[in-house]
Amino acid sequence: MHRVVIVGGGFGGLNAALALRKAPVEVTVIDRRNFHLFQPLLYQVATGALSPGEIASPIRNILHAQKNTRVLLGEMCGLDANAREVILADGERVGYDSLIVAAGTVDFYFGHDDWKKNAPGLKSIEDATEIRKRILFAFEAAERETDVPTRRAWLTFVLVGGGPTGVELSGALAEIANDTLRHDFRSIDPRDAAIILVEGKGRILETFPEDLSKAAETVLQRKGVKTVASGQVTQITDDGVTVKFKDREEKIAAKTVLWAAGVRASGLGKIVADQTGAQVAKNGSVVVEPDCSIKGHPEIFIVGDLASFTHQGGKPLPGVAQVAIQQGTYAAKTIVKRLKNEPVKPFHYWDKGNLAVIGRLAAVAQIGRFDFHGALAWFIWLFVHILYLVGFENRMVVLMEWAFNYFTHNRSARLITGPTPGLPAPSAEPEPVTYASH
Ligand SMILES: Cc1cc2nc3c(=O)[nH]c(=O)nc-3n(C[C@H](O)[C@H](O)[C@H](O)COP(=O)(O)OP(=O)(O)OC[C@H]3O[C@@H](n4cnc5c(N)ncnc54)[C@H](O)[C@@H]3O)c2cc1C
Repeated sequence: MHRVVIVGGGFGGLNAALALRKAPVEVTVIDRRNFHLFQPLLYQVATGALSPGEIASPIRNILHAQKNTRVLLGEMCGLDANAREVILADGERVGYDSLIVAAGTVDFYFGHDDWKKNAPGLKSIEDATEIRKRILFAFEAAERETDVPTRRAWLTFVLVGGGPTGVELSGALAEIANDTLRHDFRSIDPRDAAIILVEGKGRILETFPEDLSKAAETVLQRKGVKTVASGQVTQITDDGVTVKFKDREEKIAAKTVLWAAGVRASGLGKIVADQTGAQVAKNGSVVVEPDCSIKGHPEIFIVGDLASFTHQGGKPLPGVAQVAIQQGTYAAKTIVKRLKNEPVKPFHYWDKGNLAVIGRLAAVAQIGRFDFHGALAWFIWLFVHILYLVGFENRMVVLMEWAFNYFTHNRSARLITGPTPGLPAPSAEPEPVTYASH
């Protein structure tokens, strides 16, 4: 039996596996997490609207009925291209006849990895719950803070990066401050929070047409978000952010800084390239042939965010879920066609459109020749996300949560979890405090 190994159970890898369900091949899916994560809704976990389990599904469960497929929990750390073996972190080798690598991206801090501590990015469930904690803790700390400038800093939130993730996060943050928490505090008014979205380029949502960027900016400003364009972040510390403009530098005192400015391809790209002589693009992705395979290695496919595919329009395809889904499915079908000695056409991306949500009843959409924004775009966003969310149960639960949140303005997953500054672990006994009696 032809052995297909798929590394990564994200959009690319999972769709490759699903497309092979009836194929006469033996499929092994390897992922270092035991679940498929629906990244487009991560910001809803980060802002307390959804719980982690609602946007993630165990890969083993998704593929349980697929008899030709097994799932391994493990991390690919090496490749022996001559022996056709994937090497896992614990040294185990998994042999393949065809290999599909779909390992996605990691956060990229433009050479300033030290910023990560003060400005977490949003790539994983852990990132989302960390961001949720930081946002909610900031309001708690402000409630107890008596020093006015420090309280101001606790109520200042800076989001670095004005792409869809930065826009989604800042819009949701504004709704938390203005609606959700409005009546919950006594010493502070959450509506006083300053939410600042900093973008290095000339406008937010740079990949969308200019009229949609403008529309998004107007909605954000109406919600109280300050958008700052053409500002390069040059420093991020415990106390805030330094932003450099053409003619001046500005320091923003803020206790909460969130990173939505950049990602780069997983380090697995370089590992595969070193072994196969493939070219690596500037962002670490692997340059692929028109059939998504590596030059000189037709048996190795790279799909999704890890691939640099430039055979359509000259520029690399964008790092979006649709590209990964379509490339994963294409790679699987190509393997089957080759086994049947059928001709294979080059990969062609069908761009179904671009969506970004800003908040309640507000989104922007570019579908074909049509650009629009407002409630219609929001309903389309809602429909598309429910449609592509993996698992019927998750779809129903998320739909119900959204309906409930819509009518109540509530975000029921507003939990502060994990180690919290100034507080002992939840199960720890209180340490007796010694004090001088008067
Ligand atoms: C916050 C956020 C919001 C987004 N919003 C949108 C959106 O609204 N619309 C849209 O189209 N796209 C969106 N995207 C982009 C979209 O999620 C990606 O383009 C898509 O996930 C890429 O799919 P992939 O299969 O290449 O990688 P991923 O989906 O990232 O999957 C990679 C998988 O590989 C696994 N893996 C990584 N390294 C290894 C290893 N060494 N060994 C084993 N397993 C490994 C990971 O655990 C993961 O399961 C968003 C991304 C983020 C982070």
